[in-house]
Amino acid sequence: MVSKKMLDLGTKRSVIRDIFEYGSKLAKEIGAENVLDFSLGNPSTPAPREVANTIRYMVEELSPREYNSYTSSAGDTDTRLAVAKNLNQRFSTDYNEQNIFMTCGAAASLNIIFKAIIESGDEIIVNIPYFPEYKVFIEGQGGKPVFAKCSENLYLDIDEIESKINENTKAVLINSPNNPSGVIYPKENLEALAELLKQKQKEYSHPIFLISDEPYRELVFTNEKPEFLPNIYDNTLVAYSWSKSLSLPGERIGYILVPNKVKDHGEVFAAVGGAARVLGYVCAPSMFQYVIKNCVDAQPNIEVYRTNRNILFESLPKIGYTVANPGGAFYLFIKSPSDDGNEFCERAKKYHMLLVPGEGFGMKEYVRLSFCVDTKKIEKSIDVFKKLMDEYKL
Ligand code: PLP
Repeated sequence: MVSKKMLDLGTKRSVIRDIFEYGSKLAKEIGAENVLDFSLGNPSTPAPREVANTIRYMVEELSPREYNSYTSSAGDTDTRLAVAKNLNQRFSTDYNEQNIFMTCGAAASLNIIFKAIIESGDEIIVNIPYFPEYKVFIEGQGGKPVFAKCSENLYLDIDEIESKINENTKAVLINSPNNPSGVIYPKENLEALAELLKQKQKEYSHPIFLISDEPYRELVFTNEKPEFLPNIYDNTLVAYSWSKSLSLPGERIGYILVPNKVKDHGEVFAAVGGAARVLGYVCAPSMFQYVIKNCVDAQPNIEVYRTNRNILFESLPKIGYTVANPGGAFYLFIKSPSDDGNEFCERAKKYHMLLVPGEGFGMKEYVRLSFCVDTKKIEKSIDVFKKLMDEYKL
């Protein structure tokens, strides 16, 4: 009756969603204030004031046709120009509207990119730890994900990536600041990757794309700067979203950047358009394209995340936990004292603390904590982490 593959995807829910549902049920039983639900990456800070102001102006002052109509499939030209200008100011580039394709968020950006570039037999290298949906997206668009282990400090392991590249490699996908680790890959690490890819493009006589998934680009807590990949490697495609930076995850708005330096830029941009068409996107939501046109320079409010990050990153190692250094995003990746993340998550449930096992991110020994929550809950969690550590010492 139906596609077995789709049935599987629709019935086997994502682990993160399952835990979130469990948390919602528990909240009804014992009160939301008593559940330390750190499962979902749902921004807890409101969108910047400019967003509400723009929406108010839009609906009160403009005619609905100006914000409810179809835009061109790549997006409203002025919006794309505003995005290009913002990038040009920050990264000394010279983009225009022909480099920007507006999308329904990063998930759409990635699916469109994969659909646009993947041909039968193509492989996409995914760096561990990784956002679990990557596997769904790549396989869904007919590609084969090939997973590359990371180095000990959770950076890219260049030798490992090299060992995975072959003539079928179409792209390497990276995500920095990273979900689930919060790690920001350093410049030298990315330059080494770029060198490797240049060499491999020559060896196999075809382009290898670097796909940079960067919904957390603006959420940075340290002096580390997420590098702008197109300035390091020519064949870079960027998948961006305002879900996290402007706290708009439900509004579905993002873009794909196809720089002119990408080989056969015009063809790649056209294939992106073809892929969006096949996937039925038509155009990104026009109301939120209007919002982005007016709010692209708005600054995210990351102070709560920073406070939460600092509390956790100072307290947990003192209790004895090994954690990755979260330079950005809003996740802490914690090594289970038993080296078994699933077991640790089960134990934490006893204290009504909900974490996500690392297995789905490709690292079974870890768990992920989303700290985009009230600081009170983060403070409460420290005691629970102490109790849990004590259990392992018994
Ligand atoms: N990529 C990463 C690394 C993410 O963490 C997420 C969402 O959590 C996405 C992509 C999808 O983001 P969007 O809501 O913009 O589709």
